[in-house]
Amino acid sequence: MRKLLLLVIIFLVILFFLYLPELFPSCACCGKKKPRPFFRIHRAVSLSLGYRGCRSVCTKCCRKHDLKDLKDLDRLVRINRKVRIRQLSDDL
Ligand SMILES: [Zn+2]
Repeated sequence: MRKLLLLVIIFLVILFFLYLPELFPSCACCGKKKPRPFFRIHRAVSLSLGYRGCRSVCTKCCRKHDLKDLKDLDRLVRINRKVRIRQLSDDL
């Protein structure tokens, strides 16, 4: 009987870790982990489980950068990368 209980606990722990990215997604913009209600964009982008399987942007970043969907996020990431490369080349 005790073995069964142990199995159930292990199962619940695994389930918890699988659903953790759903409950506490990490923002693709600021990288912070927040509870689900703080996110405006949350979409599964691949079949892989965990944090790589979905992309999310928190409400704060959406408001700050005026993001409406993941396309806007991609554009922002590209612009940020360009700016960083320019800054690096200026330092050299
Ligand atoms: Zn954010």
